Amino acid sequence: MSTLLSGKDVRNLLISELSCNVEKISSQPGLAVILVGEDPASQVYVRNKSKACEKVGYSHQTIKLGESTSQSDLLDLINDLNMDPKIDGILIQIPLPAHICEATIQNAVDPAKDVDGFHPENLGMLLAGNPRYIPCTPKGVVHLLNHYNISTSGKNVAIVGRSVIVGRPLSMLLSMKTEMGNATVTLCHSRTTDLAEVVSQADIVVAAIGIPEFLTREHIAKDAVVIDVGINRVKDSAKKSGFRLTGDVHPNALDGWASAYTPVPGGVGPMTIAMLLQNTWDSHCLRNDIDV
Ligand code: NAD
Repeated sequence: MSTLLSGKDVRNLLISELSCNVEKISSQPGLAVILVGEDPASQVYVRNKSKACEKVGYSHQTIKLGESTSQSDLLDLINDLNMDPKIDGILIQIPLPAHICEATIQNAVDPAKDVDGFHPENLGMLLAGNPRYIPCTPKGVVHLLNHYNISTSGKNVAIVGRSVIVGRPLSMLLSMKTEMGNATVTLCHSRTTDLAEVVSQADIVVAAIGIPEFLTREHIAKDAVVIDVGINRVKDSAKKSGFRLTGDVHPNALDGWASAYTPVPGGVGPMTIAMLLQNTWDSHCLRNDIDV
């Protein structure tokens, strides 16, 4: 039997904890989410984030801008939010339209309100071993492993995918000299030679590739722990929407093969939102000198 690592359950626990915290204070944490354009997946993510804010009792605003919004208008908006004392966290939903430079936009967010953890100052603090806001998806993966008492100390971890939002920060977190670190991490990517040979050595495999059901039993050792970060839409005429969601790991390497695994949906996705709520809470407390 494989253990199902339910991000949904852990997110719900965290939502209860954060709601209790919010009730104890007289102020209200505030999150602003900016969505530029009409990307359908981004619209779902933004909707889920505002629903989660409602559940915990944060104030939240979703600012939807047209596809043709200029970079300078977006920078002006970020500047206004940086100055707004009621806003603790600013999140720019990516991807942005091609005419806008993502790095310029991320760098414009006040690092003290960068609850996504993508500002170079926050990434640098993580690299230096003194993290402030940790990017939500890697933080969620570590939180989930911790919740299910899956120790990483001394383990071989293979992360497939080296993006700045998932693989790279996760490799730092898991290799840090901390209780939930101390792993020997191999960061694999599109130029890794003999991926199956490398990944099959791992006790814990994290897939963050963006290719549906790419890793199979050929890559993953029997009884490894499998964390599937991937969220891919594949055509499915049996569904009303015309698509279904699937991860980066083939079902043949999950239930009955892995010792424990995350489902898609319901695994890492809900943890990402939970960590956004946590980072926003932390920002509110830091900025208002609150100690609950
Ligand atoms: P990305 O496109 O930025 O990075 C993909 C990585 O996969 C790259 O580093 C690339 O080197 C690697 N890769 C590509 N082809 C490969 C191959 N053949 N062999 C080995 N490595 C290969 O993607 P991303 O933004 O990191 O997202 C990855 C996946 O995770 C996507 O499905 C995305 O939707 C999902 N995602 C989920 C969450 C969540 O909350 N669950 C959050 C972020 C991203």
